[in-house]
Amino acid sequence: MKKTVEILKGDTPGTEWRFPVLSFEGTEEGAPGAYLQAALHGNELAGTVALHRLVPMLEAAEREGRLLGRITLVPQANPIATGQHVFHEHLGRFGLQTRTNFNRDFPLLATTDTSGLPGDDAPIPAEKRLKARLLKLALGHEIVLDLHSDDESPSYLYVARQLWPHLQDLASALGAKAILIWDETSDGAFEEAAWSPYKGLPADDETWNRIAVTTVEFRGMMDVTPAFAEADAAGLYRFLVARGTIRDESVAPLAPWSGPVTPLDHVEMIRAPVGGALLFHAGPGDEVQAGQPLVTIVTAPGEAGGETVVTAPQSGLVLTRRRQRLTRTGEDLLKLLGTSPSATARPGSLES
Ligand SMILES: [Zn+2]
Repeated sequence: MKKTVEILKGDTPGTEWRFPVLSFEGTEEGAPGAYLQAALHGNELAGTVALHRLVPMLEAAEREGRLLGRITLVPQANPIATGQHVFHEHLGRFGLQTRTNFNRDFPLLATTDTSGLPGDDAPIPAEKRLKARLLKLALGHEIVLDLHSDDESPSYLYVARQLWPHLQDLASALGAKAILIWDETSDGAFEEAAWSPYKGLPADDETWNRIAVTTVEFRGMMDVTPAFAEADAAGLYRFLVARGTIRDESVAPLAPWSGPVTPLDHVEMIRAPVGGALLFHAGPGDEVQAGQPLVTIVTAPGEAGGETVVTAPQSGLVLTRRRQRLTRTGEDLLKLLGTSPSATARPGSLES
């Protein structure tokens, strides 16, 4: 394993950011390369600790001559987000400089040639230079996994239409409970930028069997434990073996995957009609019927009419819900996987 350190010039004199890149050289020409990054939003750490546990497994494979494809790990991909604390609260989703979600607005290229992307001397904010840098590190690997976590959630994957069902092996290896299929755009998420060079290929092109580009949601943000870290590292390893990046005869073939595969427009994003305290009646993994109460929002405690009950717009499976129990009007509360299009579906990513 080789460690290098990426240096990102700060936007004010005297500042800079650094993040390590851990890389392994493959030994077999043509074996698929893999790029795994974690913590793009700073505090979604299941992927970070999974990569920490994965490294010794990769080192063993390297020592024993079983590491065939090149592997690049970026366990803490966003030092800007990681360091964004305001009055003891961590704010990792949006950049304080550009006010843009760190997982949106990535450059979308037509090929894997990154030579036209801005360098560190470009007169643009560090957040944008970081996005270009991460893309330069990732493109050229057949496997590109961006490891995130949701609020309260089981593991699930976002997958571009052309990559399903090709990514069933990833879903099986990681124990994903659901697949969300996106079409056309995810508003420039990292995953979309890694998929963009291939987007013009026909759906039956052989390339879609070879590449694996996705956003992995490793459960909820609080589900970071020694056992999960081990299990997630083992899952990533199983996938790398299944794809031929690593050789390991001791790893059993992956079981077929089954679970809900839901297009994004079938996801009911339940939003708060009013602000207040949240009393959830349903949580991740619950099957609910249309009209069933999902959450009561207490707006005027103790007063007649002081609560609002939000019900399920259609029957389905609750995939995620938010961690915070205080909501403002209009905020996202819960993702419900429906079986027909949502009346409130909109193009692009589910959340801002
Ligand atoms: Zn995230």
